Amino acid sequence: ALYQAKAAGRARSVLDDSGPDPLATELAAALAGDPVAAGLQVHYQGIVTLADGAVVGVEALARWAHPTLGPLSPARFIPLAEQTGLIGALGAHVLRTACADLADLHARTGRRLLLTVNVSGHQLCDPDFPDLVGAALAGTGWPAGSTVIEVTENLFEAESPAAVAALDTLREQGLSVAIDDFGTGYSSLARLDTLPADFLKLDHSFVSALTTSSKRARLMRSIMALSDALGLQLIAEGVETPAQADLLRSLGCLYAQGYHFSRPVPIAEVEALLDGAADPVPAVPPVRR
Ligand code: C2E
Ligand code: MG
Ligand code: MG
Ligand code: MG
Repeated sequence: ALYQAKAAGRARSVLDDSGPDPLATELAAALAGDPVAAGLQVHYQGIVTLADGAVVGVEALARWAHPTLGPLSPARFIPLAEQTGLIGALGAHVLRTACADLADLHARTGRRLLLTVNVSGHQLCDPDFPDLVGAALAGTGWPAGSTVIEVTENLFEAESPAAVAALDTLREQGLSVAIDDFGTGYSSLARLDTLPADFLKLDHSFVSALTTSSKRARLMRSIMALSDALGLQLIAEGVETPAQADLLRSLGCLYAQGYHFSRPVPIAEVEALLDGAADPVPAVPPVRR
């Protein structure tokens, strides 16, 4: 009887629960209205050259300062946006905001940082995406050559021709492409040479294991050789300790990102991360194969 009651309850809850997640409804309203007033923000985490710790770029990361629930992690609302088809609108908001913020920073400081923006599969494969990117750049004056689109390697497990075509188009528009979270998926090293990419972002789970095992350090050496051979620039993600930074530097890794250097911060705090030297040319010229 208990089992039947539970089953009935489950069935009823399945029937009753046909409406959308309330958070998705709020996200839709936020994006349709005033996203900033609704708490949708973009924070920036410095990308540094390991040799001197200088910030040469930033990754734009979505944030939701929810009016009642408090700060929500992207892990909470990005998958929701993907499931409900809101990721296009959310991604467009992040992209426009980031381009505007970085153009503004350039106008105030003379510093042109490299800007990286995360893009999910749905967004990338939308046929309108390259035009949307073009419009965001044109509308803010932010150059394509200083912009990097980050996609995860999982995107290529399905060998999606639409994804590859979109990345080709973006690169023709002058943007660069980074493979994010490298080392977490199953994308074979062998397939890397077929991906239209310029940067490889080594996942933080790999970086955190580096100093704990000499095998990992040796593996890192071969990943560096491989990315070199493929003309990819390596960015180590999630660097949290001086020991990790030292080891990566000694292995010859050029770029890094992580709490050891800076946490993601609002645009108003990015200026404080810069050393003040004007930088008229892009700090990291886009790499072309
Ligand atoms: P991601 O692109 O791999 O971004 C790096 C994540 O690592 C960020 O988490 C960042 O705050 C975190 N992180 C940075 N340094 C460290 C460190 O030293 N240690 C550790 N443990 N973590 C560090 P965040 O901001 O919570 O974002 C999570 C993920 O959400 C991102 O991973 C990205 O996949 C996704 N995401 C964020 N913003 C967007 C967006 O605008 N669009 C899309 N499609 N996805 C986004
Ligand atoms: Mg990323
Ligand atoms: Mg990552
Ligand atoms: Mg990640």
